[in-house]
Amino acid sequence: MKKTPDRIQSIISEKRVKLHIFEPSMRKIWTVVGKGKEHWLDLESEYCSCQGYYFGRLSGKNLCYHLESAILAKNDNQAEKIIFSDDEYVDFIMTLISDL
Ligand SMILES: [Zn+2]
Repeated sequence: MKKTPDRIQSIISEKRVKLHIFEPSMRKIWTVVGKGKEHWLDLESEYCSCQGYYFGRLSGKNLCYHLESAILAKNDNQAEKIIFSDDEYVDFIMTLISDL
């Protein structure tokens, strides 16, 4: 059995993988709370807003540990789900972007 790295395990167990669901459209936004920052992830295109992801891609590595954590949390249904209304979607995105 493949062992999950401690760093990823603690991110999941500390509920730092968050799935924001906007209703009624059911749009989903994934974030992982890192050190003082919240990173924005797109699981479908395997994108993360962190620097590790950016430099990892440049050097040929694929996933940063945020993405690995989020994918694992998704598969195990362990993400922290937060429900929003669609009215809040634009504000949410703006806040996320201004935080990057
Ligand atoms: Zn990342």
